[in-house]
Amino acid sequence: MRYAGAMWWTVGGWAVAAVGAAVVLWALFWDRARGRLRCRRCWYALDETPTGGDGVVTCPECGRGHGSRRKMLRTRRRWWRAAAGVLVVLAGLALVLTPAVRARGPMGVLPTWVLVEMVPLWEPSPRGTIQPRTSPGDQLINRLLTARVGPGGVREDTGVLLSPRQQRHLLRRIARGNALAPAGSERWAETYGAWFRGQRFRFGRGEDRHYAGGAEADEALIALLDEIELVRPPWQVRTREVWPRGVPVHIETISMYAGWTSLRTMEHVRWVAHGADRTEGTADFGRSFALPAIDGDRVRLELELSEYASAPWERVEGEEPLRTGEFELAWRVVDSIEQVITPVRSAELDALVAGGLVFNEEVWDIDARGAESILHEGVVFGVLFTYYDGNQPLGAMEGRWRAEGLIPGKSGGSWGNWVSYADGDGNLLDTLDAVRAGGRLRVKAEGKPELALEFFDADRCWVGEVWFDVPPVGDGAPGP
Ligand SMILES: [Zn+2]
Repeated sequence: MRYAGAMWWTVGGWAVAAVGAAVVLWALFWDRARGRLRCRRCWYALDETPTGGDGVVTCPECGRGHGSRRKMLRTRRRWWRAAAGVLVVLAGLALVLTPAVRARGPMGVLPTWVLVEMVPLWEPSPRGTIQPRTSPGDQLINRLLTARVGPGGVREDTGVLLSPRQQRHLLRRIARGNALAPAGSERWAETYGAWFRGQRFRFGRGEDRHYAGGAEADEALIALLDEIELVRPPWQVRTREVWPRGVPVHIETISMYAGWTSLRTMEHVRWVAHGADRTEGTADFGRSFALPAIDGDRVRLELELSEYASAPWERVEGEEPLRTGEFELAWRVVDSIEQVITPVRSAELDALVAGGLVFNEEVWDIDARGAESILHEGVVFGVLFTYYDGNQPLGAMEGRWRAEGLIPGKSGGSWGNWVSYADGDGNLLDTLDAVRAGGRLRVKAEGKPELALEFFDADRCWVGEVWFDVPPVGDGAPGP
């Protein structure tokens, strides 16, 4: 959007800047000696001052000695006035930019290469919002967005549309990061990585890669996209500080959360546990993995993790890992699970589980709305769901769930594999669908502290047992 008077801001701004520039020139270059001899400290006239016996002219005003004529012929530079002139120049440029800043925001007037370097300094905008006027990353999105709009739809206020060359520059900076956020650092993952995760769809996938806006991919673009895929997120390996004796120990690495890469990486772990009994083993895992119960009082675990670009079942023999890291974890072992996580029983929580569960095709979820006060207390849910046709158990699934806050839809959970109790090899989900359609599907939900332990920072979990009937499909249950 242009608005009336923009031209006057431009003309006025340049005029002010010109005045400032004149002040700078005047302050620095105007007062030349022009043959006059002057003290180079206090500018007292020294034409009449006699030369001393040592050949030095000493200023009678301030005492400064001048060993040569040249030192008395200096140009007087007025630095403070020059600085004031610079400020006036900057003020003029600010006036010139005012209409553009009003129309497009501060970020809208900056060149793309500056915006790219600024990305790590800003937190990403909240999900679902885009603030191109004030966020460098969002401004870059806007410039990519606009590139997708047809000629008639190009908005005037979006500034530069990114050419293929500029897009390559952008991707190169993302692939390599900068001093604020080197590639693979945590900051990189939070800023450049998050930015690319949101925008990668504009560049296509696999064989169908292209520039944002549709231009055909060239080798340079493909190489850059590949380079970003191979940036590995920082490895953050963690577990609980205390585990109860006799239960599997869960270990989590968030490296799998890297949404900017389409690589289906799996990791391989070799481990040695030092404690009462020394134990060793290997395991494959994705985002988290469980080691068999390790008993001892204080266990120290040495882990070697390797990450491959392929899943174990696709891996060719001798394939080198993308990276290997070594980690140490330690935890205490206590005798009872209650020393680790406090079981919480309440009618309110029972009602939440029984009444709040929503059947979404084959996924169970807990609807947190209306339960804010309970969830505030940090209660987590590790639940074993057993499915019944009347009184006959059909199968079961584990669910782990917690509220990440009080905002509906921001809940987080993970779900285990289905276990079928049937003797035959019929598909459990088909059976459940059929039983549900007949209106006979019942569920027993049991709160299991050992499942809730996988939330490493949780110290309260629901225990209880509730039964409820699942309404037939389409009977009031919202979709996912
Ligand atoms: Zn002097």
